[in-house]
Amino acid sequence: MGAQGEAEEAAGSGMGGDGQEGGSGAGRAARRDEAVRAAVEQGLLGPASPIVGLLDVTGIRESAAELRAAFDAVVAPGTPVLHAFAVKATPLVPVLRLLREEGVGAEVASPGELALARAAGLPPAMTVLDSPAKTPAELREALSLGIAVNADNPQELARIDALMLSGTSRSPLGIRVNPQVGGGSIEALSTATATSKFGVALRDEGAREWVVRAYLDRPWLTRLHAHTGSQGIPLSLMVKGVAETYGLAEEINRRAGRHQVDTLDIGGGLPVNFASDATTPTYAQYARMLAEAVPGLFDGRYGLVTEFGRSLLAKHGTVVARVEYAKASGGRAVAVTHAGVQVAARTVYAPGSWPLRIAAYDAKGRVKDGPVVVQDVAGPACFAGDLLAEGRSMPLLEQGDYAAALDTGAYYFAHHYAYNSLVRPAVYGFWPEGRFAVVRRAQSVEEIVAESGGAQVDALT
Ligand SMILES: *Cc1c(COP(=O)(O)O)cnc(C)c1O
Repeated sequence: MGAQGEAEEAAGSGMGGDGQEGGSGAGRAARRDEAVRAAVEQGLLGPASPIVGLLDVTGIRESAAELRAAFDAVVAPGTPVLHAFAVKATPLVPVLRLLREEGVGAEVASPGELALARAAGLPPAMTVLDSPAKTPAELREALSLGIAVNADNPQELARIDALMLSGTSRSPLGIRVNPQVGGGSIEALSTATATSKFGVALRDEGAREWVVRAYLDRPWLTRLHAHTGSQGIPLSLMVKGVAETYGLAEEINRRAGRHQVDTLDIGGGLPVNFASDATTPTYAQYARMLAEAVPGLFDGRYGLVTEFGRSLLAKHGTVVARVEYAKASGGRAVAVTHAGVQVAARTVYAPGSWPLRIAAYDAKGRVKDGPVVVQDVAGPACFAGDLLAEGRSMPLLEQGDYAAALDTGAYYFAHHYAYNSLVRPAVYGFWPEGRFAVVRRAQSVEEIVAESGGAQVDALT
């Protein structure tokens, strides 16, 4: 682990990568190029199926192993650690199953996500429920299954009180707090601002005392949870959020006169580098920063739960789309592809916050080179802003070529947006040497009709 961690650190300090395996992502890029070529050769991609999502199974396993190793390296021996993948990042059952095989559990935030985790065979002990809007039925189900629950607010805690009065539960229970340490560069993903909707806002008047009393009054509250934010939050701020949460756990335990809070759930949020193939920052860097700033967290007194999403999957997904037409407009080259807002909603609606790298492949799926041309890479949807990239300098995309949106394994093609009734593309997992497995079939137009009230055709007449 040590040698690998150092290699990662060396590569992680620059954005460009340096050809070093592991840190630079060169191996990952080579696997991706091979998979695109094989997908075209095998007809998974072509005129009749002009868009697919690809998932690098090797890369996903590597990231899961890096996550485990990073925290194993800093916790005291024997510390219980649960890495719970934030299902919202890539809500695909085979992905959850693969992660489970890698020892990674699931963090769920809706009845649908819980059902996905259960379909993947995740046991209750590897599942955590956090959501800001849990219904009584959801809470009852979670408590009867023994799934860990973090209460978001006093009203939710009152519902849990009622359930605990009417029976017992094996569920580890905690409260989510908002350490209010501030936001990052993406407002919509900053969960620790003063007015965030999540958790109990610790610095609000009386709130800290309310939280401490809530624990003193309820011996069954044994966990404490915070998730300081996602993409755009600097590591130092994430560390500060964890340090605040740890400080609160220490205060609760001091005032309780016993080790009541025995597990800290530190959330997810490790940012992803969308600018190159390099993995930076790494789990190892974050774990070391935490160990330096909050040594007591890892001295063996606290179990640990993490909830990483984007950082586990983003760099292992690629959406590849055929260039249906290549045209010029007002002097600008425009490649009209089959990937747009339906698979990259964030990038299309907020391109400044979510730029994506685009790789060009020729009609046979080979990496394209040639003179670099300033061009737009457009999607298929009927509005002008449906662009994956605007004014991008890259080898000219021509009719029949393929454009690949990189680093889209989390919060992109798994998050279909039904604009223009465009079908959900198929998703394939890939291994080296052209091996593929269906992760999700493409939606059919018949399914679109059925899901759009097809059986209720006469409902309004
Ligand atoms: C979204 C979310 C995560 C995962 O965030 P990433 O940025 O994808 O790592 C973890 N915990 C909670 C509570 C979340 O809402």
